[in-house]
Amino acid sequence: MIPLIDAHCHVTTTVAGTLDSSNFSDPNLMRCVMSTNVYDWDKLKSLGSDDGTFLSFGVHPWYSHLFSLGNPVSKHEHYTAVLESSSQANINDLIGLLPDPVDLNSYIDREFDIRRISCIGEIGIDKLFRLPENGFYQAHQSARLSSVRVKLTHQVEVFTVFCRLAIKYSLPVSLHAVKCHGMMFDLCKSLLFPHEAVKICLHSYTGSFDTLENFWLKELPSSRIYLSLSRWISFKNADNGRKLLQALPLECTLTETDYAVDNEKENLLLEQVSYVIDEVTQTHQLESSQVAKQIIYDNFCRFISMNL
Ligand SMILES: [Zn+2]
Repeated sequence: MIPLIDAHCHVTTTVAGTLDSSNFSDPNLMRCVMSTNVYDWDKLKSLGSDDGTFLSFGVHPWYSHLFSLGNPVSKHEHYTAVLESSSQANINDLIGLLPDPVDLNSYIDREFDIRRISCIGEIGIDKLFRLPENGFYQAHQSARLSSVRVKLTHQVEVFTVFCRLAIKYSLPVSLHAVKCHGMMFDLCKSLLFPHEAVKICLHSYTGSFDTLENFWLKELPSSRIYLSLSRWISFKNADNGRKLLQALPLECTLTETDYAVDNEKENLLLEQVSYVIDEVTQTHQLESSQVAKQIIYDNFCRFISMNL
């Protein structure tokens, strides 16, 4: 039986706790699970090897401030250098709550294992987000948003480190971009495009059709560029989601939930992906949803470089 594909999902970020792995054994769903920080990676790496689960290694822009680059400096100096706000007092309050930064290169040296990791992500840049008042996003903790942001220059530095890792090991990347689609394209063009083995997935793409058609799809062969569509972001506005499907070659289309797998009911995860499969079937007037499932599965195998 052909499994459904969740090309971009997560596990919850909590400072303590172990992974409830009961959702990871469904033969009907094949997934690529992102990591975004040290906490979710700690949980994710505990998963045993299983044919249906691919591990992805990365640092999400929302957590990029937790990592330092370059010569060691004090905690205060690090956060002062990478955070920005109109209020220094807000930055200082946040620093009091934040953990000691992790040296990014040592983290990668320690944790990256090419035998277990199939993808680099979730990585990217984000011009919109602000940090929550507890210092970083954590599941089950709803903190108000502060006025503090992570400087874009720091986000780009962290992103660049992971692009180099993808190039070194010829791994695909799963990318997050919010309100900086032109910049993301330029970064990828200079960093990743020259390396033909690196495939790119723009997850829950929110850029313009113009950027998609006249930049990404024009400059990359369809074997290297993928968009994974989620119900809750890509089809928040169903018309927009359909237009996106129409603009996107079928062979570049993937499905995703972008949900924390350990925090949702298995049925809900299947429903989310099935919804997008039905939209693919209708938009491309395919014979049946089975045909769509097979195509998305084949696309995923190409993206993740799994031999069919
Ligand atoms: Zn995500």
